[in-house]
Amino acid sequence: KAKQLGRGQHCAFEPMLDAEIRRRAEIEREMREAVERDAFVPYYQPIVDLRSGAVVGYELLARWDRSDGAAIGPELFIPIAEECGLIDTLMLRLLRRACRETRDWEVPIAINVSPTQLKDPWFSQKLLGVLIREHFPARLLTIEITENALIVDAQSAQEAIESLRNQGVQLALDDFGTGYSSLQHLQMLPFDRLKIDRSFVTSMDRDPQALKLILAIIALATTLELPVVAEGIESRAIAETLARLGCAMGQGYLYGHPMSAADIEAMRSATAA
Ligand code: C2E
Ligand code: MG
Ligand code: MG
Ligand code: MG
Repeated sequence: KAKQLGRGQHCAFEPMLDAEIRRRAEIEREMREAVERDAFVPYYQPIVDLRSGAVVGYELLARWDRSDGAAIGPELFIPIAEECGLIDTLMLRLLRRACRETRDWEVPIAINVSPTQLKDPWFSQKLLGVLIREHFPARLLTIEITENALIVDAQSAQEAIESLRNQGVQLALDDFGTGYSSLQHLQMLPFDRLKIDRSFVTSMDRDPQALKLILAIIALATTLELPVVAEGIESRAIAETLARLGCAMGQGYLYGHPMSAADIEAMRSATAA
């Protein structure tokens, strides 16, 4: 198709593509430095029991602490980290830091694992190595994976997850309902939790289709005896509806934004007092 375009038109696209490529290369170079300097920091978002409101755990979400103040979020930097082979180092460093920062809280922590990491035959050993060195109980760690991880390489994903689960690590299926959802995925692995993608949750009060999908997901999870976590809860009304529909847990700005360990600790001691 490009050949059909006139010479002038074709050239007009090039500067933009070049700029895009240069921008990515620049971010990649900055990321390598940032990983070394530990400029990627774990933030934690509370996960609550929807009935009691009690915090039942935290999800670790990576943040890039940049000296220039520019906000570059995980939606942008995680895919780059995956492509340039940085994701493993990045994630294991975040985990090590999280083990140290949250150990005294004695609450479950969930961490996101990229599909590419599950292809690595040494992944489970590396992860368990961090837990052992940091004396962090495996039963307090949940790994969150998306269905894409099962499509990339189901065999190695299954092996990695099996050895992690043997040590007590829990497993959550993230962003359920987006991606290449297949009921088969729910059978392939022994999930402990199912997370409903926030795109359905944020729109469920005005979009009947989104609400129907949520009803269907909760019904399915109930049949399979899988506890459901809804992400992206921003209003009291949505939280109440979800609880009424049988959704056990939730997270979202209503309960708390992702925060640094120091901020979480301040909050925890304020509520304990
Ligand atoms: P996710 O794992 O599905 O995480 C939930 C996302 O929803 C987070 O975005 C969180 O900040 C956001 N969120 C939570 N509650 C609300 C709400 O009430 N309203 C709205 N609008 N958003 C809410 P975040 O932190 O930007 O992360 C985006 C995605 O990047 C994550 O989606 C996850 O897939 C990925 N990610 C983040 N940290 C890591 C990491 O350390 N490793 C890997 N592999 N992926 C990560
Ligand atoms: Mg997640
Ligand atoms: Mg999610
Ligand atoms: Mg998501």
